[in-house]
Amino acid sequence: SSLLQMQDLTKTYSNTRNKVTTHALNGIHLDVYPQEFISIMGPSGSGKTTLLNILAGLDQPTSGEFWLQGENLASLKADELALFRRRHLGFVFQDFNLLDTLTLAENVALPLSLDRQNDKHILQRVSEMMRFLGIEDQMQRYPYEVSGGQQQRTAVARAIIHQPRLLLADEPTGNLDSASARSLLELFQQLNSQRRATILMVTHDPFSASYSQRVIFIKDGRIFMHLRRTGSQQHF
Ligand code: ADP
Ligand code: ADP
Repeated sequence: SSLLQMQDLTKTYSNTRNKVTTHALNGIHLDVYPQEFISIMGPSGSGKTTLLNILAGLDQPTSGEFWLQGENLASLKADELALFRRRHLGFVFQDFNLLDTLTLAENVALPLSLDRQNDKHILQRVSEMMRFLGIEDQMQRYPYEVSGGQQQRTAVARAIIHQPRLLLADEPTGNLDSASARSLLELFQQLNSQRRATILMVTHDPFSASYSQRVIFIKDGRIFMHLRRTGSQQHF
């Protein structure tokens, strides 16, 4: 059965000042199955970020419903939603969103420390995750002391340290040079195949999308095409 089910999601933004109404989403239906790696593509302004923000519980749909692991997030109270998000979701944002006053290790630890897990366990998990991402030498550094690629890896480590069922990524390679982008995509592929993470990634970039198993195209807030990869493809 599906991990994530969306039924007729719409989102309308009304600007009360100039009375402009924007229909950012116009009826999104989508089922995402466990362990899928899906890309969402579409022109700027087509509603990709809006959709991801809704799925992340950062924004509310105007109408329609969605279920994550059978749970209707809209029916949860604020504290239940916060807990659900912390336990089951990971996010990677385009601009990393690292906290500058914390070391990379402390940034990565955040989802676990917010969950009040014990320090020894946290340190062990953080070391393991940073090793997995090849940034174990940077644990005591601050975000401004490391490269964009290393910041991005830190953001990914933070997003997956609590082993979320669903990883949501908005243009994760948008600020990376092509070598860093490629290694991030390989990492996503590894997470997906070895750690059974389900990934939903917004991207403008066909090369990035070629790493996923299914590509969904949206335009004017509607899904207008699905592509499924068949067989094995090479990345050049
Ligand atoms: P994409 O991520 O595909 O570029 P967005 O989801 O950011 O698209 O935006 C979809 C549409 O909704 C755009 O027309 C955008 O200007 C509008 N929009 C997004 N967020 C807001 C907001 N907070 N207030 C008003 N309009 C918004
Ligand atoms: P992207 O194109 O990378 O998806 P955008 O630049 O469209 O992102 O949007 C960045 C942020 O600004 C989003 O959080 C979006 O909700 C918000 N936003 C986009 N368009 C508008 C708008 N017309 N009014 C207010 N906020 C907006």
